[in-house]
Amino acid sequence: MGKRQYAVIGLGRFGTSVAHRLYTAGQEVLGIDINEESVENAELSVTHAVIADTTEAETLKSIGIRNFDCVIVAIGNDMQSSILTTLLLKELGVKKVIAKALNKNHGQVLSKIGADWVIYPERDMGERVANQLLSPNMLNY
Ligand code: ATP
Repeated sequence: MGKRQYAVIGLGRFGTSVAHRLYTAGQEVLGIDINEESVENAELSVTHAVIADTTEAETLKSIGIRNFDCVIVAIGNDMQSSILTTLLLKELGVKKVIAKALNKNHGQVLSKIGADWVIYPERDMGERVANQLLSPNMLNY
């Protein structure tokens, strides 16, 4: 796989984990967070990191967000910021937007406003663990 440009918005545990894996796989990763401390903590997991509020269209434009192959919105608890950021990204023409949802209602809104893939971390991880337990290789558990 060639080098792709990713942006990860929200450098909490989830966002930093996604960013870190992409970065160690040799991809270009821009990390963005409104909080200086979150940016500092994630500095070794990204190619570049910036402090910015992604609910501002002008900020997203100045970052050149349109040019990224894929943007991951990893803001969860602040639902309003997650929704507004996702909406702006699609309005600005970002091709692939992946967004983390806290619950079903949040996920429905994210899909409605154009998120290309909505992730429910706890639900998806729970399914993955159960599937692993059910796989023939795990019969000893
Ligand atoms: P996680 O469960 O991934 O650890 P968290 O519980 O630390 O996440 P969340 O509320 O889900 O926190 O937010 C993740 C990150 O998103 C935080 O570091 C927060 O500073 C950042 N964030 C919140 N609002 C914005 C915004 N408007 N612009 C950029 N970053 C934001």
